This record gives sequence, structure tokens and C-alpha cells, in this order.
Amino acid sequence: MSFRASILTLYPEMFPGPLGVSLAGRALERGDFSLETVQIRDFGIGRHRMVDDTPSGGGAGMVMRSDVVAAALDHALPRPTPAAHPDEPARPAVDPGTGPRAGGGRGAVIVCGRFEGVDERVIAGRGLEEISIGDYILSGGEVGALVLLDAVVRLLPGVMGNAVSGDAESFEGGLLEHPHYTRPAEWEGRTIPPVLTSGDHGAVARWRYAEAERLTRERRPDLLPGKSR
Ligand code: SAM
Repeated sequence: MSFRASILTLYPEMFPGPLGVSLAGRALERGDFSLETVQIRDFGIGRHRMVDDTPSGGGAGMVMRSDVVAAALDHALPRPTPAAHPDEPARPAVDPGTGPRAGGGRGAVIVCGRFEGVDERVIAGRGLEEISIGDYILSGGEVGALVLLDAVVRLLPGVMGNAVSGDAESFEGGLLEHPHYTRPAEWEGRTIPPVLTSGDHGAVARWRYAEAERLTRERRPDLLPGKSR
């Protein structure tokens, strides 16, 4: 059974977007995963298909109604499938340890929030997992959904051309990845570290590990053992 993504959104035209090109696009064509969108407005209230209302307690902006979002979810969700709701900063989302594997190969239903967000009761009532993709505010959950799915889809069996490259990538083994070089041997006076062209595979592996440690210490010391995030 291939990975199945259902996206609940007010902007279905944003999909597949970047997931329709390159590796993900080919995987989509092959059927390694499927992506369907559900227009939340189809479940809106009344003649105007209203999906939002003023915030209880007053204040600016609008809130997505729980009854509308729940109706869209109940239409989309062959329960029990994990559901997610890309949300504003709360905790890191595309955490390589948990995020990309969260769908576990089965699929995910993603509710894309808009306005001030989604009524808290549907998040609780339908057991949605809130996922932030970073400490910044997006205009809606669609970009977050694309980020999550991109990170998940590339890990599905057969999607990446060279499966080995996934193992060596940043975060695998708790380190960022080592720097990369390719031809030409010299570019604007800069050369390739000689060890990489030495043919000594052991030395190459040791250099890469040392560089991965150096980069992690410089850029993401929180990833090193003993450091908490
Ligand atoms: N009122 C919210 C706040 O101040 O935190 C911002 C709401 S934002 C304009 C609308 C929707 O975009 C959110 O409900 C969420 O679905 C999505 N969103 C915004 N930032 C996000 C992020 N960093 N990660 C994932 N989704 C995000």
C-alpha cells in the first residue's frame, strides 16, 4: 500500500506544487504515494459556505470553525489514520527523528489552518497532532504541509534514486553532513581537499566524519550528545 496524503485546505491549487516535480513528482506519477486535496469550503455553512467566524472573547481576525473542519475531516479520514495540523511555533516539526517518519508509510491527513488558526475543540476532538515547521508565522498551513510531505516522501522506498545518500544525510547519526566537492579540481583558486582525491577510502571516511563533527559543533551544537534542544 503506497503512502496516501490527504490535504484539507482552502487552497487546493497549491498542491502538488513542488511535490509535482523532480524526485517527488516522479514518485507521484509512479504511484509511490498519492496526494488528494479536500476543499474545506465544500463543508462550509450556508449559501456562502462560511468556514470561519469571529474569535470568542473578541479581538482581531477570524477562526476556522470546528464543525466545518470536522465535517471535512470526517469526509477525508478513513480512521484511524494519523492526522496532523501544521501549526504556529510550538515545537520543531521537521525533526528528522520524528517528523519524516511520523506517517510510517501508511499516510497522513493534514489540516491546513488559515486566518488566526483552527478552533481548539476540533484539534482536541479529532486528536490532531499540531506540527510547527519552525519559529516563524506562515500565512497558512499549506507551505508547512508541503515541507512535511517533501521530507516524508523522499524517504519512501524507491523514491530516492540512490538509497545510500539518505543514510549519510544530515541528522542521520546525530550529525550534520560533511561538506561536498566535485569537479573542477580547482575553481577560482580554491582546490578540493587532497584527501578526497587520494583514493584512500578509510582516510576519506575519517575526514568526512571529522568535518561532520566540526560543522555540527559550529552550527548545531545542540545535536551533540549531552546537549538538550
Ligand atoms: N494566530 C497565529 C499565531 O499568532 O500564532 C498565526 C496563524 S497563521 C496566520 C495561520 C495558520 O498558518 C496556522 O493556523 C497554521 O495552520 C499555519 N502556520 C503558521 N505558521 C506555521 C508554522 N511555523 N508551521 C506550521 N504551520 C504554520
